[in-house]
Amino acid sequence: MAIQTVLLVEDDATLSEVVGSMLTLAGYRAVVIAEHALIPYAIASSRPRCVIMDGELSASGQNRSWADAAAIRRVYPEIPVLMMTADRAALAEAQARHSTRSRAAGFAGFITKPFGVEAFLATLSTALETGAPPSEPVASAAAAIFPDLGRPMADLPPEVHLFDTVVHELRQPLTVIRGQLQLGRRHIGRDADRVQTAIDLSIAQVDRMTRLLGDVLDSARLAANALEMRTERLDLAEVVAAAIRTHEDGDRQRITFKWPHGPVPVTGDADRITQILDNLLSNAIKYSEPELPIEVTLTAQRAEVELRVADHGVGIPADELAGLFTPFYRASTAMSVAGTGLGLHISKRLAERQGGRLWLEASSGAGSVFALALPIA
Ligand code: ADP
Repeated sequence: MAIQTVLLVEDDATLSEVVGSMLTLAGYRAVVIAEHALIPYAIASSRPRCVIMDGELSASGQNRSWADAAAIRRVYPEIPVLMMTADRAALAEAQARHSTRSRAAGFAGFITKPFGVEAFLATLSTALETGAPPSEPVASAAAAIFPDLGRPMADLPPEVHLFDTVVHELRQPLTVIRGQLQLGRRHIGRDADRVQTAIDLSIAQVDRMTRLLGDVLDSARLAANALEMRTERLDLAEVVAAAIRTHEDGDRQRITFKWPHGPVPVTGDADRITQILDNLLSNAIKYSEPELPIEVTLTAQRAEVELRVADHGVGIPADELAGLFTPFYRASTAMSVAGTGLGLHISKRLAERQGGRLWLEASSGAGSVFALALPIA
């Protein structure tokens, strides 16, 4: 089943870490933000299935969560909002729904602090199963609080995307690493296999963070035209075959490769071409079911060699193609899979820096074909 994202709005660092780790270990993707002001960006970029917010009332009896919950309900009625609170008065008001603000907020469930892990997860899964609470009129004053809510991703300032995405994508593996190290430490001297798994999972997360940092750096260097290229004559068939080998998993051959007999000479930077191929192949793998084949073909045209990577996966909806190849672009069909939306942007720029092109040739619910052209040597 697809991994479900839960957005947690919590300014207490310890609590957000604990809840974040708990959600991750329970199989959710946890997105944690400390600032209420970031809610619209976090929803737009991570498309959560549920939002959890603290619900304490201030001394003056105010809390932003009520208005935030109402604003979310207005724009995303399908996303249930849970209130997490130790404040008995706030809880009673929210549950009774006697006040205007509690009806407008329409919290779909309540987590009372201190909470037990099982009760917390049960409340969350009930909210996810039952979906949105019954609709009630939303106070218009509350609805005005987030003019950004519901705004298309493309309209948001790029630096907000960058910050939000990088922080989130680094925090997520850190949460997993921390959880695994704690688990591993508990099993030292008792269960060597469990310790080994914890180490392996942690290393995989460190690799993920390294990849993200590499992508952010490449993206910045490409934007400043400061990326070094070592262009030479090389055999593209050999580079492609090597890239495919690194993506093969076990004995079953999922990726097939067809190319004209003999070497296919192009000019380019072997490492950068491999980087493009890695992105196209890992996307084909990520966005399709594991039993479905992936076909790679090379054909020589007049002045160019064309490479195609075809998969039979989720595809990209036709009405979402506008932002493809821009930084942080992610289609709605990709939301259950981890990603940053940087790979295709970087790949296209890398292809162009080598005198080539990268484009989406076809995409539908039956799969996608990405194509790369490089100049013949
Ligand atoms: P990431 O995979 O990290 O999100 P990319 O830049 O590689 O970033 O891809 C951007 C988006 O393009 C993906 O999030 C996904 O929506 C879409 N995409 C890319 N490749 C494919 C594919 N083979 N099938 C379906 N969607 C794809």
